[in-house]
Amino acid sequence: MSVAKAEQKPALPLPWHASLWQQWHQQYQADRLPHALLLSGEAGLGKRTLARALAHFLLCEQPQGQHPCGHCAGCQLLESGFHPDWYNLQPEAEGKAIRIDAIRDLTQRLQQSAQKGGYKVVLLWPAEALNLHAANALLKTLEEPEPSTLFLLVSDQPSRLPATLRSRCQHWALSIPPSAETLPWLTCQLSADQQPEQLLRAAGGRPFAALKLLESGVEQQRVELVRLMEQLTCGADPLELIAPLKKLPLAWMITTLQNWCADTLRLMMAGEAAVYDTRQQPLYQQWADCFSVHQLLAIQQELEQRQRHLLTHPNEELFLEGLVITFQRALHDE
Ligand SMILES: [Zn+2]
Repeated sequence: MSVAKAEQKPALPLPWHASLWQQWHQQYQADRLPHALLLSGEAGLGKRTLARALAHFLLCEQPQGQHPCGHCAGCQLLESGFHPDWYNLQPEAEGKAIRIDAIRDLTQRLQQSAQKGGYKVVLLWPAEALNLHAANALLKTLEEPEPSTLFLLVSDQPSRLPATLRSRCQHWALSIPPSAETLPWLTCQLSADQQPEQLLRAAGGRPFAALKLLESGVEQQRVELVRLMEQLTCGADPLELIAPLKKLPLAWMITTLQNWCADTLRLMMAGEAAVYDTRQQPLYQQWADCFSVHQLLAIQQELEQRQRHLLTHPNEELFLEGLVITFQRALHDE
């Protein structure tokens, strides 16, 4: 199944969010919910699902205990995607910024009273996509909050948000939940022949990231990157690998290679039992035979530097050349 489908399920908190949910509910009952919440943590923890669950709860007209009723007018409007007091602000396309016009437009609409007479809830995701002007405009809105309005900022990289904006939000940093809380849920999302434990481990304990690994495109990319990396390690001409590498999504490739280096280091220093992505064991073994710990650490560092450089100098070709040369240099540096 796809991640999108999992995320469209009724907006209820996930099992591993139970204690956070409890705290929010207490704040709600005491009428102490803040005007802005910042939910941060690695991708794949279900932050948006959690934010949507809170929105759904607040927009339900007859909540039952800690949960929305599922059948009032508010719940039905949310289900259909047309609730007039629910604002879902995202960049126009992935990787694009959230611009000031969008924030101005939102602020204007929020100044009208709630259409349904209750809460108005805004989900901003990914919050780090706000450009500086948009963040400043939002800051103004947060400094003079409208009553019964809640901003939910969701971010994988909260450090990229202006500190002034962060300080206006109640910040909840989500960490990797224990597998006892996620594994039963993940198992329910999978068919009987799939291996939830292996996937969850490969995803570093992040349940939605584990589901994403199953998407056919991602799995093909992984197999292809393994093939190219094996060729590189076996002495293929690095420049010939650039064209096929170019067909893979760059941001995904960089993160994946960083994870693989980290996982190989775990293998080298703590043995097979410490490896996260056990599907990758053959490549890790190959790298462990070819590289020293010191070399892998240097590769990791160089990947990080090149990734930073890419932000200011977005030249993919140059990045890939640098990447293959980094590996080749380490190979010949006996
Ligand atoms: Zn309801």
